[in-house]
Amino acid sequence: MDNKTLQKLINWTREGKTYRCYQLNQWRGKNGIRNQALARDRYECQDCAKLGKYSKAVEVHHIKELKTHPHLFLNLDNVVCLCKECHNKRHDRDQRGGSKKIKKFENIERW
Ligand SMILES: [Zn+2]
Ligand SMILES: [Zn+2]
Repeated sequence: MDNKTLQKLINWTREGKTYRCYQLNQWRGKNGIRNQALARDRYECQDCAKLGKYSKAVEVHHIKELKTHPHLFLNLDNVVCLCKECHNKRHDRDQRGGSKKIKKFENIERW
């Protein structure tokens, strides 16, 4: 992606406006990464596929998330198509790891 786009992504993330990143034409446009990923994965949930199940993919997940890897936001190798359930599972796992860190940080601040 070009530097201008990357700068926008970084700024939006910093300002807590990540939703704007997902409004980019390069992401959600007709030929955007989202549709390219769905076509590549044949609209099939990749986590279910690993378990030999078939579920229709409805969401496109970033393996390395936007906040830490904004330069990979529009990288087809960094996205995977998932069903809603698998997508939630992936985020649950990430969030559990993350919230622990936040709690620790709060404690340091408070005490
Ligand atoms: Zn699934
Ligand atoms: Zn996700």
